[in-house]
Amino acid sequence: MSHAPAGIPLFKVFMAPEAALLPRLREVLYSGQISEGAPVAEFEQRFGAFAGQPHILSFYSGTAALHVALLLAGAGPGDEVVSTAMTAEPTNLAVLHAGARVVWADVDPRNGNLSAAAIEAKITPRTRAILVVHYGGIPASMAAIRAVAARHGVPVIEDAAHALGARYAGLPIGSQSEYAMYSLQAIKHLTTVDGGMLACRNAGDLPRGRRLRWFGIDRAAPRTEVDVAEVGYKYHMNNVNATIGLVQLEHIAPVIERHIANGKYFDAALRGIPGIELCAWDAAAEPSYWFYTVLAERRDELARRLTELGIGNSLAHKRNDRHSVFAASRCELPGLDRFYASMLHIPCGWWLDEAGRERIVSALRQGW
Ligand SMILES: *Cc1c(COP(=O)(O)O)cnc(C)c1O
Repeated sequence: MSHAPAGIPLFKVFMAPEAALLPRLREVLYSGQISEGAPVAEFEQRFGAFAGQPHILSFYSGTAALHVALLLAGAGPGDEVVSTAMTAEPTNLAVLHAGARVVWADVDPRNGNLSAAAIEAKITPRTRAILVVHYGGIPASMAAIRAVAARHGVPVIEDAAHALGARYAGLPIGSQSEYAMYSLQAIKHLTTVDGGMLACRNAGDLPRGRRLRWFGIDRAAPRTEVDVAEVGYKYHMNNVNATIGLVQLEHIAPVIERHIANGKYFDAALRGIPGIELCAWDAAAEPSYWFYTVLAERRDELARRLTELGIGNSLAHKRNDRHSVFAASRCELPGLDRFYASMLHIPCGWWLDEAGRERIVSALRQGW
């Protein structure tokens, strides 16, 4: 028997209490209608109210939502999408799904998010979209990025997979741009087991978005009268995932508040610890702290030490420019080199209580 305290995981799935979830789930499972129907429409509407976005399309994954956002933005073969390599693979695989080319822009070494000046340097007449990730839940510098996008007339797609509950300039994350994607995958702030949501600024995008997510067919029209005029996909969300989402939404506010409270605690408690630099961001940005990123000297040694102490930690993502599938996009990214050499993610989520976060702070204070 070990007497070591239980480990603190880096990620943990939040699921609403059984008493709230199981009756609703049982009802939908045996309702005879488990594909896309009324619960999906209701979830889109309620998620939109929660996320502060009026025009929402649901999908079976965030990756599918990003693919459709890219198609709606007009990205296809021969086109370029300016993006970040400091992200999960789906961000950039979606660009390849759309048939476009990924063009890397460099990141701000203080937080891993794209820098506006680096984006502008990579815009060409073939650029169809700028794909911005709010890495780890820290909002990117949207004011400066919007200015670049406006100057060049290029739409912005925000990948807010890590950032539900974050705000920028007083508004919910995703409000600044033509498109915003939220992932509802298992370990994100809010999960439906799997799922993704796309907010569109322009309501005129919704009919084509709905067709693209379901075989190119308008589900509302009589089936024999529809004409498939464009290749669509099987990307829709079903009633079962939507029902989980509806129940999750009723419980998610305190979960996100807990991520934010833990993050703010670390912002104060980790300041000044030798060998640790904290991330920095715009004054207008309010992160939702999916995980907490520190920039550490002798990072790999710190990671080993935390693992010995049972404190979850990880790089979480391999810089995407190192994958063979993106070989054609390789270029110098000195800001990313710096961030990637020192970043380490530590737990910050709803499962971290006061004793847990103090354990993390004292582990870091002890040195490594
Ligand atoms: C999770 C994630 C996605 C989308 O993932 P799905 O699993 O398809 O919902 C996209 N971008 C980032 C940065 C992610 O972490």
